[in-house]
Amino acid sequence: MRCPCNSGESYEGCCAKYLNGLDTDLVAYPPTAEALMRSRYTAFALGDVRYLLHSWHPDTRPATLELDPDQQWYLLEILSTSQGGYFDDSGVVSFRASYRSATNRKRRDSLTETSSFVRDGKQWLYLDALEIS
Ligand SMILES: [Zn+2]
Repeated sequence: MRCPCNSGESYEGCCAKYLNGLDTDLVAYPPTAEALMRSRYTAFALGDVRYLLHSWHPDTRPATLELDPDQQWYLLEILSTSQGGYFDDSGVVSFRASYRSATNRKRRDSLTETSSFVRDGKQWLYLDALEIS
């Protein structure tokens, strides 16, 4: 299967190693803020709440998270990135995520968000949304 994050790679060659990494001793962390953002989008698309919480900064992480099963995420577009690279400790990623309704497939909508990320050692973490539209 193609990776839900629309990288063009297979799921196994892309976000699977991050999502599945939580179950192994060899935890793989996304190397950049954009890669983390993509893996979190994939977790939204696959309903992986555990990964979403794991990749959320402890200061802003909710105690629990409930996903709307009616939202089927089908497209991720990265609009811009700032920092968030191999040698940065923080970064910002703007993206548009599109979904359709599982019960009414004609109903589609999208979310545009500018998110901030921080790095803690090897692990990039989602901090918060700077802007949502
Ligand atoms: Zn991916």
